[in-house]
This record gives sequence, structure tokens and C-alpha cells, in this order.
Amino acid sequence: MTQQIGHIVIVGAGQAAANAAAELRRTGHAGPIAIVGEEPHAPYERPQLSKDMLRPGCAGARCMRETEAYARDGIDLHLGVRVRHVDAARREVQLDDGRRLPYGHLLIATGVRPRPLPPALHASPRVRYLRSIGDAEALRADLDAGHPLAIVGGGVIGLEVAAAARARGVAVTLVEAGERLMQRGVDPLVSRFLDRTHRARGVDIRYGLQAEALEDDGTLRLSDGSRVPAARVLVGIGVLPNVEPFAHLGIADAAGIRVDAFGRTAVPGIHAIGDIASQPVGGRHGRIETWANAQDQAITVARNLVAEPVPYAAPTWFWSDQGQTNLQVVGDATTGRTVVRGDADGDAFSVFRLDDAGRVTGCATVNAPKDMALARRWVRQRQQVEPQRLADPAIPLRDCAA
Ligand SMILES: Cc1cc2nc3c(=O)[nH]c(=O)nc-3n(C[C@H](O)[C@H](O)[C@H](O)COP(=O)(O)OP(=O)(O)OC[C@H]3O[C@@H](n4cnc5c(N)ncnc54)[C@H](O)[C@@H]3O)c2cc1C
Repeated sequence: MTQQIGHIVIVGAGQAAANAAAELRRTGHAGPIAIVGEEPHAPYERPQLSKDMLRPGCAGARCMRETEAYARDGIDLHLGVRVRHVDAARREVQLDDGRRLPYGHLLIATGVRPRPLPPALHASPRVRYLRSIGDAEALRADLDAGHPLAIVGGGVIGLEVAAAARARGVAVTLVEAGERLMQRGVDPLVSRFLDRTHRARGVDIRYGLQAEALEDDGTLRLSDGSRVPAARVLVGIGVLPNVEPFAHLGIADAAGIRVDAFGRTAVPGIHAIGDIASQPVGGRHGRIETWANAQDQAITVARNLVAEPVPYAAPTWFWSDQGQTNLQVVGDATTGRTVVRGDADGDAFSVFRLDDAGRVTGCATVNAPKDMALARRWVRQRQQVEPQRLADPAIPLRDCAA
């Protein structure tokens, strides 16, 4: 049974917002829905920005739905306008063009923005970030022009761009402050694979160093005094949550807008979805910055507004395409007992993580999507497995459950 919940305002017109609005209509909410987004575009999915959009001849970005589809569904899109303040007592949001929108329920879906380099570097016209369609178009123009690229940050964004740039013959130097690639999300075996494959494609990788200054000769000076070619610099060093319009409400924590498993903040009628939500994950609170979360958590929270609430409890899952490499990660792929399936020195393998009871808590697959299909189910079910069988690729994976 659906309940009447009045006006819904969704702040931020990204993937989570679009999914939540569509789900509200699907579940029978007939009242007004407004989406307010600062970008000029209707909601779109961001994975294309570091993949398809950097390929030569790309026709441009795809939006999730045409603008007319929102109109047909009675969803008001307010684009190119920011929400600057929320008055929770009056239940209204204030836009930076002076308008005010009343709400019965507010969904915060403002996502994150790239963490900038220190001001002296950040201000340079040679510096690029990658979060929006405009960012991707600028970067593609750089690749078209063949500008040597320095990439700061060896995470997903940096590595996907490195692969795209090398595929187009652009010189790439990647500077990582830590000791290995994708340090936060995968274990050292996977980092080693990534190091090997990106180097084989011609990426010059420098570890333990920071970007210090852009020189007039087109180079970037690093913290050891060395200089690397840097007609352009792509920065992928993490993100900051877009919490500012809501900070005064006391619902933000260090990660984002803090919610419970149902997507509710501590203020009645205010919820958070997608990247901005600091949600319960692995016994703590944190952001889950994945396409799957921006879809599934947003849909769950939207449904919770109109039907019997259910907690969102899916394990974290993401993929990354880096040239010919398909990497997928589910659950916690960095702690617990390691079981390797396949040859970690080859082109395809999986690294499972088990707890003390032999239950699967996480997995990273490298060019092994079939393993991932089962691993996702196992992590969700906390399936106990037999480690020795798991390590033997001759034994079908499904026969490794204990
Ligand atoms: C380049 C790139 C590649 C990615 N690739 C993958 C991948 O391969 N696999 C994967 O799982 N995930 C990937 N992701 C992550 C995934 O795209 C995000 O998790 C997802 O976009 C989050 O959706 P969201 O709706 O929460 O936030 P967003 O899509 O960021 O939308 C938030 C929107 O809110 C707007 N906004 C912010 N503040 C305000 C305000 N005050 N008023 C109005 N509007 C505001 C923002 O401008 C933005 O348009 C990638 C992300 C990027 C950037």
C-alpha cells in the first residue's frame, strides 16, 4: 500500500536523483516531484566520462532519459540552478536564483566533487579534473591534440584515463603518493597486476611522490625535484562531499550526509541517496561511491517513502575498465585471509577474502567476470567455502562452497 507523502524535492540531478524519481512514480506516488541540479544537463551516468567519452569519435554523452520523459512523468527538472539553503522548519529549499520550493520530503543527492590540488597548482589552465560532461569534453580535446599528460593519483579515475590516453598514443606519466595503485580498494596482488599492465602499455609510473609545481617548460615538478612531461595534468586524488547547503542542519559527518540503513537523516523528512550518503557499511559509516549504490540505494530509499521501509544492505560492488582490463570488486577486498584463484602473474585471476570462519567477505576479479557473478552472491550470503578447492581453477567455482 502506498502512502501520501506530498511534495518531493530532490537536490542534485545525478544518477541517484533520476533513479529515485523514476522509482517514486513506479511505486505509485502521484504527488509533485522536483529535481534541482546545478549542471545544465538532464541526469547522466558518470562511468562513460572516463571510458566511452575518451574514445576517438565518441558522439557525446548519453543522458539516462530524455528531458521529455521527465515531463511525461510529471517530474519537474530545474537545471542549471543550485540549492543554496534548506529551511527545515518551513520545509522549503532556497535556490540561488531566489526561488523557494516547498517539500514534504527532501532527498539530498548532491554527490561529491573532485578534491583539488593545492591552490598554486589548481588554478593553472593546464590542470583537469574529471567529474562532469564538460570535464570529459575538455580532456578528450587534450587527447585529440596529443598533449603529454601527467596524471596525479593512481586510483580508478587516474588509471582509466591513463589507459584511454595510451590507447591514443598520448605520453602518460602517473604520479602516485602511496606505494601502490588503487591502494584503498584492492589488495597488493591486484595492484601489482595493474602496475605491470599499465607499464606494459607505456605508462611511466612514479610512486611515493607528490606534484609540486607546474613549470613554464611544460613539465610538472615532483617532490623529489624530478620533472615529468605535463602539457596537461589530470587530477584524481579523491573527492569532497557536497554538504554545504545542509551543514547547518547538523546532519553531516566527516564523510557526507549521515543516514541510517533506510536512508533517513536525523531530521524528519530529510533523506540522502547516492555518493553523498554516509551510510552504514561494514560496521561503520562511510560513502559508497559506486554506480550500483547510486542506483540500488536510491531506489530503496525512494520506495521506503511510499511503502513499508526496508533497510538497504547490498554489499559494495564496482567495476573499472582500464584498456583491456576489466576489474571488479565486491565487499571488503583488502582484509581477511587471501585465496587466489588463477595465475596472478597472468591476465585473469580472482582474489577472494575470507573471514576466520572461511566465509567470503570480499573478492576482486581481474578479467574474470564469471567468478564475480558468484562472488557477489557469496558475499551477500556470507557463504562458507573450502579454501583449497577455491584455489584450484580446475574445480568449478560453484563446487567450492562448503
Ligand atoms: C569519471 C567517473 C567514472 C566512474 N566510473 C565508475 C565505474 O566504472 N563504476 C562504478 O561503479 N562507479 C563509477 N563512478 C562512480 C559513479 O558515477 C557515482 O557513484 C555516481 O555518479 C553517483 O551518483 P550521485 O547521483 O550520487 O552523484 P552525481 O552523479 O555526482 O550527481 C550529483 C549532482 O548533484 C549536483 N549538485 C551538487 N550540489 C548541488 C546543489 N547545491 N544544488 C544543485 N545541484 C547540486 C552535482 O553537480 C551533480 O550533478 C564513476 C565516477 C566518475 C566521476
